[in-house]
Parts: sequence; structure tokens; C-alpha cells
Amino acid sequence: MTNKMLGFTNTEQHYPETMPVAARESNFDEIYGQFDPAEAAVQAARCSQCGIPFCQIHCPLSNNIPDWLKMTADGRLQEAYELSSATNNFPEICGRICPQDKLCEGNCVIEKGFKSVTIGSVEKYITETAFANGWVKPISVGSESGFSVGIIGAGPAGLAAADMLRRKGHEVHVYDRYDRVGGLLIYGIPNFKLEKHIIQRRHHLLKESGIRFHLGHDTDGRAFDEMRGKHDAVLIATGVYKSREIEIPDYSLDNIVPALDYLTASNRKGLGDSVPEFDNGYFNAEGKEIVVIGGGDTAMDCVRTAVRQGAKKVTCLYRRDRINMPGSQREVKNAEEEGVQFVWLSAPKAFVGNKNVQQILVQRMRLVAHEASGRQSVVPVEGENFAVAADMVIKALGFDAEDLPTLFAAKELKLSRYGTVEVNNRTMMTSIPGVFAAGDIVRGASLVVWAIRDGRDAAAAIHQHIMTQARSIAA
Ligand code: FAD
Ligand code: SF4
Ligand code: SF4
Repeated sequence: MTNKMLGFTNTEQHYPETMPVAARESNFDEIYGQFDPAEAAVQAARCSQCGIPFCQIHCPLSNNIPDWLKMTADGRLQEAYELSSATNNFPEICGRICPQDKLCEGNCVIEKGFKSVTIGSVEKYITETAFANGWVKPISVGSESGFSVGIIGAGPAGLAAADMLRRKGHEVHVYDRYDRVGGLLIYGIPNFKLEKHIIQRRHHLLKESGIRFHLGHDTDGRAFDEMRGKHDAVLIATGVYKSREIEIPDYSLDNIVPALDYLTASNRKGLGDSVPEFDNGYFNAEGKEIVVIGGGDTAMDCVRTAVRQGAKKVTCLYRRDRINMPGSQREVKNAEEEGVQFVWLSAPKAFVGNKNVQQILVQRMRLVAHEASGRQSVVPVEGENFAVAADMVIKALGFDAEDLPTLFAAKELKLSRYGTVEVNNRTMMTSIPGVFAAGDIVRGASLVVWAIRDGRDAAAAIHQHIMTQARSIAA
């Protein structure tokens, strides 16, 4: 099957079928389907094979998108998979949950006038085809290097680093406080965006590749010290988990819950775990009026989870407007389709209730251009307040880093002014020799694709560090 490229001139943009809205109400399955071979080839062939591919420039992994699109259009899928997986450890995950509208697809040159190439869906198709055909294999290590690396955190940053380091023949140990691998991929992001078997499939592959996982292993000061003694290098990839608080009157009323606790309970339930706080109704939105505060991906995941749990009404309060919200526009559209009501330009002013929250007093906001920077900021509109009824409020205002120098009893671990771990941008090393860091714990709350990129960069830096140390000992 060979398709001529430049198909955008006569072929319309088409995404795989999406689950009908009515079916989504009580269904946690992934809402996007997958291309069939003919559709994938025709959609890939819409690419104009740009000399300077802006899609690739705006992909954090610099994926060679035009080449794997051409291979897909030609039906050379195994080559397409090899090329795409050379720069991306988890293309089946990025193809599903990257905010493509802000990254590769949003910068595709045919977007203006013809609508972009459906890059993410093709990436997912290539990788799922590779899995189905048995082309995705565990790492086969030629000879063991004799060196070992300890990685704290089995999220995408830690897993990408583990994958790359194992390929170099190093013994890799991944430690995580959770009982499952994946970090936010497993307990944060809901099934309707990323089904859990996709992550578990990667876990099995990495295990078969010889990577050793130590789950239920919470790293504290003693464990960190032991790890440094045991391994030739240590990577901190612990993500950011401290929920930001809304310090307004009565913010500690019952039924005002942090987003990640709510999502974790729902994801665990979906995985078949016993979750008493869900079963007793505390984390269950069924029959309730739910208000989610925030405008990022986490808030979108909460509103859409509440819909699926059978909430009576789901409202999202965000202090800016739709254009200025940090979440992906695709997710807002999905939430709107599913019946979520957005109240833009609104900020909580006080919670009202006895033991439990019953209402939120809301302040109307307006956008103003910041004089110096020209950026939009928000200010209250004097006298414009209203109330929104709530049986449960979910706070999704973002996350900060835990205080790692205290947790790891390592005062010498330098932090940035945002509380994230500071690294040398070239070597990815922290202020502690032989200790590296990657992912959200360095960048602050970000994206999976950036965590993968950081994990890959850290692995390259760790390999170089270990080999340089080994050479200097030998000399
Ligand atoms: P994490 O994924 O957070 O993994 C860190 C791991 O470290 C965890 O498993 C944790 O248990 C472990 N850990 C932490 N401390 C310790 C310790 N002391 N000892 C042992 N283990 C420890 N990004 C997207 O690109 N697309 C999306 O659609 C998207 N949706 C999101 C939805 C939600 C609800 C959230 C919260 C985030 C979302 N993100 C999304 C962001 C994305 O999930 C993160 O940027 C990414 O997972 C960061 O990867 P990481 O490996 O740095 O950290
Ligand atoms: Fe686009 Fe993300 Fe894939 Fe890069 S990794 S091509 S940004 S979907
Ligand atoms: Fe193809 Fe769009 Fe990338 Fe150009 S920017 S190479 S048209 S996908």
C-alpha cells in the first residue's frame, strides 16, 4: 500500500472514531478508537514532508515525524515503529495523552487552512501495530557493564531512564513507594485517557528486560543513604505531589478533597483494589453536586471522572477564561460534551457549611493586561459575587515538590526557588556528586513527554558519569 504524500490538498483531516457521548456517562474505557491500516496510511499521507518540520521542532522528543509518517503512508510499519521508538520510549502513551494541540499538531504547517496531520493518532497506531505483531521486544543486553544505578520513582521519567540505562548494560533498580509501576500514569490519569493495561504491558517488558523493581519502597533518609552506598549513581525522579491549598474561610470543611486523592481512589477502584473511602461514599461523586476548582489537566480529569461516577451535576470554576486555561482544549471540549458546566472568570471566595461543605461563594473576575509584561492577569470585579451549591469540592490547583532535603536527610541537596531539585542543565547532576534528577521534581508539574525527555537525558548523563569514573579509576 503506497500513498502519495501532500494528501492534505485533497484529503480531509480525520481522527479515529470517538466513543459516543451517551456511552461515556458510566464508561471508563478510553474514548478514542484506533485507525485501521487504510485510514492510517491515508491520514499519514496528508503530510507535506516539510524541509523544516515544525511538528518535530515542537515535539519535546524531536521525533522524526515526517519520516515515520511517510513510512506509514507506504505501509512500512515495522520501519516506522523502529524510527519512532528510537526517540520515544513510550510512543503508545504519548500518542494517546500528549496535548498534541499545543505541541506537534498545533505547529503542523498545514494546520492553517487545512487542519493538521493527525500525528498523535498515527503514533499510537504505529505502536499498537508493533505490539500486535510482536515487534516490541524486551531489551536484550549484550554484556553486563558491572555497574548499577538506583532510580527513585517509577513514573515516566524514572522508567525512561531505566530503559535507556539497561540498554547500556547497567544493572538498574527502580524503587517506588507505590505498589504499582507508572507514577501518575497509573494512579493520576484516568482510564478514559489511558487504560491501565497499557502501562502494565510496559512494566512487564521492562521487567523482562532485567530491570528490578522494588515496589512499596518509600525512600527516606536511611534508604537514600543506603542507595548511595549500593549504586554507582542514583536518579531522583519522584515527581511533585504536594497539593496547593486554597486558604479561604472554612477551607478545612469535610468533603473538600485534593484532586489526586480523589483520582487515586477512582483509579484504584478501577484496578479492583479495596478502597474503603470510595465504598463509604467519601470519594464517590454518585448523586452529588460536584464543584472542581482549577483549569488544568488534573481538573479536567476530575470533572470527567465525576461524570462517569454518576454525579448529579458537575461544575468547573476557573479564574481565567477558556483561552487562558492551562489544560488542553481537546480535554475541555470532551468535558463540555459530557455535560460539565464551566464557569469562567470565577474564583472561590469562601466555603459555606457546617461539618460538610454546602456552598461556595464565588467572586467574579476579569482579565487585565499586565502593564509591564503585557500578559493577562485577573482581578476581582467589585460587588459581583454568587453562590454555587456543592456536596463535594475537588481542589485541583496544582502541585508543589515535597521537601526532599528533609525527607532524604540530605541538607546538601540544593533546591530552586520553586522548591524543585536544582540540576546542572548539562550534566543533570544535583548538588550531590553522583546523584541526578529528572522529570517533574526538576521542572515542576509538567507533561509526560517532558518527563520521558528528561529521563533519557539523565540516563545519557549518568552513563557518561559512570564510564568517566571507571576510566579515571583504571588510569
Ligand atoms: P511521576 O509520574 O509523578 O512519578 C513519580 C514516582 O515517584 C511516583 O510513582 C511516586 O510514587 C514515586 N515517589 C515519589 N516520592 C517517592 C519516595 N520518597 N520514595 C519512593 N518513591 C517515590 N501529562 C500529559 O502529558 N498528559 C496528560 O494528559 C496529563 N494528565 C495528567 C493528569 C493528572 C491528574 C496529573 C496529576 C498529571 C497529568 N499529567 C499529564 C502530567 C504527568 O502525569 C506528569 O508530568 C508526569 O507523570 C511526571 O513524571 P515523573 O516521572 O516526573 O513523576
Ligand atoms: Fe506529538 Fe507527543 Fe508524539 Fe511528540 S511525542 S510527536 S509531541 S504526540
Ligand atoms: Fe508533515 Fe505537518 Fe510535520 Fe510538515 S509540520 S512535516 S506537514 S506533519
